[in-house]
Amino acid sequence: MIHISNLHKKFGKLHVLKGINEHIKKGEVVVVIGPSGSGKSTFLRCLNLLEQPTDGTIIFEGDSITDSKNDINKTRQKMGMVFQQFNLFPHMTVLKNITLAPMQLKGIDEKEATKIAMDLLERVGLSDKANAYPNQLSGGQKQRIAIARALAMQPDVMLFDEPTSALDPEMVGEVLDVMKELASEGMTMVVVTHEMGFAKEVGDRVIFMDEGNIIEEGTPVELFNDPKHGRTQDFLRKVL
Ligand code: ADP
Ligand code: MG
Repeated sequence: MIHISNLHKKFGKLHVLKGINEHIKKGEVVVVIGPSGSGKSTFLRCLNLLEQPTDGTIIFEGDSITDSKNDINKTRQKMGMVFQQFNLFPHMTVLKNITLAPMQLKGIDEKEATKIAMDLLERVGLSDKANAYPNQLSGGQKQRIAIARALAMQPDVMLFDEPTSALDPEMVGEVLDVMKELASEGMTMVVVTHEMGFAKEVGDRVIFMDEGNIIEEGTPVELFNDPKHGRTQDFLRKVL
């Protein structure tokens, strides 16, 4: 589904991604781990062109999205993204947060968009919050709404950047449960997380990044039980 070749990203003189090669298959759940500052967010943001890669190519569903002729907005519609800080629109109800993009970007009428939104709210267990505003919700509820909002565009892949890192511990589980269900339904997912339990249970593949490179990758069993690289071993010793 996504072929990444020789992906580089520089911010001025800071060389953040140093030649990433990766292939993400349809239906795969890929978990990205690594120390703070290693380039995980930049990698994810390059995938949907929130950051413009400095060099390299990304082929998404057969189209080169790094090509200057590519329609960035079309690409982004097929890639849902969930951020650490939720990024809900504070002045809109939950329902409006979810229906806005399908109506504005896909031209879906309000009745249909509302139906899609209500179905998604039921899936994330928040049907009773349709008319609430974000500031009336807990962090875990906000993040479940953010996931529903991304799903409302019916994306082909979902990108998660530390979706539980800003949550109080007791709310992490409810968000991970929604993500697990999504994975079991066959959604293609790329997940940056420090939740090693989730990585082990749900990940098809785990990628360890450090200093802008993919150092090592494998199945969760391979990576967690038998890391080959010294840097992976050091990192896992600290987090497990
Ligand atoms: P991670 O998500 O693994 O913690 P990031 O991708 O956020 O790492 O950051 C990698 C490096 O790139 C860091 O040194 C960070 O300061 C730098 N960086 C990220 N975004 C920007 C930006 N927009 N401008 C300048 N430097 C950035
Ligand atoms: Mg990050």
